Amino acid sequence: MAATAANSEGEPRYKRVLLKLSGESFSHAGERGIGMEEVMQIARQVQQAAESGCQIALVIGGGNILRGAQFKNHNVGIQEATAHYMGMLATVINGLALQDALETLGCSTRLMSAIRMDGVAEPYIRRRGKRHLEKGRLIILAAGTGSPYVTTDTAAAQRALELGCDILMKATRVDGVYSDDPEKNPHAVLYRELHYNAVREQNLRVMDSTAIAQCMEHKMPILVFNYKKDGNIQRAVRGERVGTIIGG
Ligand code: UDP
Repeated sequence: MAATAANSEGEPRYKRVLLKLSGESFSHAGERGIGMEEVMQIARQVQQAAESGCQIALVIGGGNILRGAQFKNHNVGIQEATAHYMGMLATVINGLALQDALETLGCSTRLMSAIRMDGVAEPYIRRRGKRHLEKGRLIILAAGTGSPYVTTDTAAAQRALELGCDILMKATRVDGVYSDDPEKNPHAVLYRELHYNAVREQNLRVMDSTAIAQCMEHKMPILVFNYKKDGNIQRAVRGERVGTIIGG
């Protein structure tokens, strides 16, 4: 794994991480839209993790507002491709919220969008993104890949690879990857380590299949962990034992 070793001074184990946050993490449980309390809770944790010296690139989902697949079987009205673009724009709305929350806390941030919209975000340019990270800025990567029919999981895998991140961390509401949905099945077993192949063969709901395939091909480790437990983002970047690690 391309990471520096954890040390006794509490420095981060990972030098550069890609943190994927779903749109749902931006809203109150069971609701849609943006709950500022939720966004601030995430921002505080990200700030704490960044203060430990880790470079963090964030990929933001948009499912709290809209997902393109909702319009999959619609023959009239909004076409599916259009809906995917709407979903990408939703991630920009979330990105703006997170940027303000982080800046309220004094973090230096850049919002970068895969779809050009110069009035609100910088265009995503890989080398520029890396430079921001090197200068200690948090980068918020919005509008997914800029192309329809995929999800922000795929965008997260792609950005993790091209930005040279040590690991892709997927923040979820549960403690990691389970044998079944732990919110429905109390007997579901939590896995601590998994091979990419096991995720694919057992059809475990971790990330979409394109994202898993990309990570597997390029040996990008994935950590699935619970961001709802305060301090877990910092624990994760320090390499402390949280969640499920997926590798080769
Ligand atoms: N989307 C897309 N291309 C991308 C990333 C996202 O078309 O590269 C669209 C897709 O419709 C997706 C929506 O944006 O459903 C919102 O992203 P996602 O569903 O990944 O959000 P999350 O589930 O993480 O909240």
